[in-house]
Amino acid sequence: MQRSIRRLEPETASRIAAGEVIERPLSALKEIVENSLDAGARSIEIRIEGSLDHAFQVADDGVGIAADEMELALERHATSKIHALEDLERLSSLGFRGEALPSIAAVSRLAIGSRTAAADSGVRIATEAGAVRERRAVARAVGTTVEVADLFFNTPARRKFLHSTTGEQRAAMRMIESYAMAFPEVAFRVIVDGRERLHWPALGRPAEAAERDAPGLPDADARRARAAAVRGAAHAAQLIDAAGEREGVRLVALLGLPEHARASREGQIFLVNRRWIQSPLLGQALRQAYGNLLPNGRFPAATVWLDVPAARLDVNVHPTKREVRFADEDAVFVLVAGACAKVLAQLHPPFTVVQGGREPEPAWAERVRERPSNQTHLELAPRTVSAPVSPPSGATVAAVGDALGASAASAEARGAETEFWQLHRTYILAPVRGGVVIVDQHAAHERILYEETRRRLAGERGSSQQLLFPALVDLTHSQFELVNEMQPWLERLGWSFTAFGPPTVVIQGVPSDLQHEHPAQFLVDLLDGVSESSGRDASEDLIEHLARTHACHAAVRAGDPLGQEEMKALVDRLFGTTKPHGDPHGRATFVRLDLDELHRRFGRT
Ligand code: ADP
Ligand code: MG
Repeated sequence: MQRSIRRLEPETASRIAAGEVIERPLSALKEIVENSLDAGARSIEIRIEGSLDHAFQVADDGVGIAADEMELALERHATSKIHALEDLERLSSLGFRGEALPSIAAVSRLAIGSRTAAADSGVRIATEAGAVRERRAVARAVGTTVEVADLFFNTPARRKFLHSTTGEQRAAMRMIESYAMAFPEVAFRVIVDGRERLHWPALGRPAEAAERDAPGLPDADARRARAAAVRGAAHAAQLIDAAGEREGVRLVALLGLPEHARASREGQIFLVNRRWIQSPLLGQALRQAYGNLLPNGRFPAATVWLDVPAARLDVNVHPTKREVRFADEDAVFVLVAGACAKVLAQLHPPFTVVQGGREPEPAWAERVRERPSNQTHLELAPRTVSAPVSPPSGATVAAVGDALGASAASAEARGAETEFWQLHRTYILAPVRGGVVIVDQHAAHERILYEETRRRLAGERGSSQQLLFPALVDLTHSQFELVNEMQPWLERLGWSFTAFGPPTVVIQGVPSDLQHEHPAQFLVDLLDGVSESSGRDASEDLIEHLARTHACHAAVRAGDPLGQEEMKALVDRLFGTTKPHGDPHGRATFVRLDLDELHRRFGRT
């Protein structure tokens, strides 16, 4: 149904006004896509030329804009979606402030072409920095096309703070994936530089039909079919359905298995009344539902749809509308945590928790033993195995002690024979001249792997081991972009893979020293680590984050039991690095206790 655009009363406008609506190129694209969805489009086509801030356009087959309202659409606080404040209490659209188009137009060259079903032809107006430069009649189908070029061209200060173009494009893909999950009945097509990146056909019932029984909840078949398009068929087939209702709030969700969990929140999509939002509350509720199915630091992958009566939801809390406030947060938390936990409880056994008994060998132990001897910087293989606990020899104490003070002695230290104790499976106790050092096994291993990874990324190509059975990984589209972008570097680390057709990648080979049980999961963690932390596209930044993430995920963990030889190799290798004192994040790798200090404490002066 077409409603006309009207200016909000100043009183209303002042109560819903936001701050910075268009903070980055992604926000411009998001607002325009939301407009197409509000217009009832069944098909949305997004074209990007170069980068989002260079040029993009969004074409839809929605209701269109009447010829005599085109200019009004670009006026601040002119909207067809609400007329008074009370309308927010029954809001069913994503937009409501009438601020997006004028905000985008003010900082770009924006054109809108549109035609309604009642008109024989359309109108296209072109603007620059908000001023209309041209208006003409055009022949076109019913619907709207918005073109945005040279975003922020007249605000150079803002341009300077833009995220990288590739980072922005990845974020855009995530936004599109999220809205595709919210609206399975809408077809999405994305074309970048003339090349089709994705095309997801419309599924299920049209919006109006779905609207009647549960406005915010697409039906089960459509949900799963869309998940298959977005995440890959193999992944989608394993997703677990959850559903529930509490105090008028309804929930459906598709939950990833524990092994789909990620090192970041990137696998989570929260949709409230079909609005793509971020919410610590929902994140925590979801995490709680997984309980000890996941170790610390892992985030479940899931899509959660909530249908909340509009009167019990405040959508006017954030300029970009990415946050909402629930009237009853507790009810929402209990609903999400409870409904998801209920279905997850059927998964057993919990796969990460090791209860008593013999613990598995750490992956790292294998890696040390089977290291190929042609990799000289790793060649610290054990020679003799000495009695577990005996007084340290003077030579060892001297050698390691020197290594701490002067790197010249580190070569000697590497060959040293020493006994070490592992404390609480976290620290290694090593006697040194004049005292003792306590090494943090994870931090130390991270430092070692980090330097090794940096060397390989700088050109010292690591060897690859072919997988007996190539591993298929379903990536998200943004991960797929990233993995292609990083391919040359990943290959230097020893990865070899080929694109199997987006978004699936086939891993054929992994770094030869990688003993990770799930190379596919490791690769996804790497991608998460890189995309989480890098905003800018300087390749140095990518390399740095790749090295850090690689090191962090491949390193032995606190809690991993280590044998004598592994501890020895670890300490030796640590003191063979260029900066043994800290891990790549700046955390200490060891603490030194002086003998003097011990003597003093025992009253031996
Ligand atoms: P809001 O979405 O908050 O109303 P916008 O500035 O985004 O504000 O859009 C202003 C108005 O322009 C909308 O209310 C709508 O009437 C019209 N409009 C914008 N985009 C479209 C579109 N793709 N199809 C139909 N109408 C649109
Ligand atoms: Mg809008």
